[in-house]
Amino acid sequence: MSAEEVRFHLHGEFSCPLTTRGKATGEHCLQHRDGYVTDALSGKRYDELLFVPEHDTCSVEIQKVTIGIDFHWERTETQTFAGSLHVIVDGGKLLVINIIDAEEYLQSVISSEMRATASPEFLKTHAVISRSWLMAQMEKQRAQSAKKTCESCIRTDTEWIQWSDREDHTLFDVCADDHCQRYQGTTRIVSPAVKEAVEATCGIILSYGGKICDARFSKCCGGVTETFENTWEPVVHPYLTRVSDGHAPLNTDLTDETQAREWILASPPAFCHTSDKTILEQTLNRYDMETSHFFRWKASYGQNELSELVAARSGIDFGRIIDLVPVERGVSGRIIRLRIEGERRSMVIGKELLIRRCLSSSHLYSSAFVVDRETGTGGTSFTLHGAGWGHGVGLCQIGAAVMCGQGFTYRQVLSRYYPGSIPEKRY
Ligand SMILES: [Zn+2]
Ligand SMILES: [Zn+2]
Repeated sequence: MSAEEVRFHLHGEFSCPLTTRGKATGEHCLQHRDGYVTDALSGKRYDELLFVPEHDTCSVEIQKVTIGIDFHWERTETQTFAGSLHVIVDGGKLLVINIIDAEEYLQSVISSEMRATASPEFLKTHAVISRSWLMAQMEKQRAQSAKKTCESCIRTDTEWIQWSDREDHTLFDVCADDHCQRYQGTTRIVSPAVKEAVEATCGIILSYGGKICDARFSKCCGGVTETFENTWEPVVHPYLTRVSDGHAPLNTDLTDETQAREWILASPPAFCHTSDKTILEQTLNRYDMETSHFFRWKASYGQNELSELVAARSGIDFGRIIDLVPVERGVSGRIIRLRIEGERRSMVIGKELLIRRCLSSSHLYSSAFVVDRETGTGGTSFTLHGAGWGHGVGLCQIGAAVMCGQGFTYRQVLSRYYPGSIPEKRY
């Protein structure tokens, strides 16, 4: 969490090893003042503060933690955490870091990402990929901290291509939001089922060629999964490749505009093409359930509305938007380069996350869409017909939940979405 001020309640006794303060407990309010962590009550200043629990039963309750930053479910809530609390100054604000055991973190992440009522095999699937992803990020970060990393953005007058990466986290391992994995401490009660799934797979990660897999996942692939390099940096991970999320292999080439259009509008069978309420309810969180149509979806804009939206979201004045033209699609039909044609200027933008951000006041479900432009008496309107929810790389959460409901084991599910990978016990 990053904020000007943080209010929290320490339940139980905590020690403060970085200061001469004695034990700490109860209500606290810390503020950023002149580059210091400042106690709002006493006015005392610190370079940093660390609160370490004295007992297993201690917890920290933090007020106004923002979740779903920039997404349509953004809101603030009071959250509870186990482990230690480290407060430092970063970028003119306070940075609040929770220090916690990896297996405990996983129990929380799985409870935050999924409902604890999901099937045991699905929870095990998630435990393994969340653990792999975490370990892969930590390994990558350590390797990168020595050398400054490559560019993650190309920006000229006619082109703006930006891919998501994690180079921004240097002071901690993972953030608590969807950028990494949703982590909400122990706010959502960790159920015995989640605890069991994490314990049953303790230390198991996915490996490929002896290396820990960067096991990405998203909500709903839309029928076919995307490759890693089309979404993030140009590195090929053979296990993050195109997988058909149905029983039959897919013969359609979704990088082809005509075939992509036909496929997106057709709504074909796939594991994630489900309206099984029980599975959706068991798998999605309360705020995810607010989004019910994601396998195929539609978004409509008037011309002025779209022009204002794009200007506000991109910070670029295109004038009135005349057309949206897909320039390049990835293997899942997701647009990775889109030309925005305006009366004042035209520009190609990418990759999928930037496209989704520019075309919606929160985030468009995915960049796998086709554009229908219609001109009538009321002016021009744009309708986007889309497929899937999220970047579509790696495991499809809804698809995997359906597979587990049909009796597949977590190992079968993993080998399907991450071809060539094997589960391996590392500790
Ligand atoms: Zn992050
Ligand atoms: Zn899917």
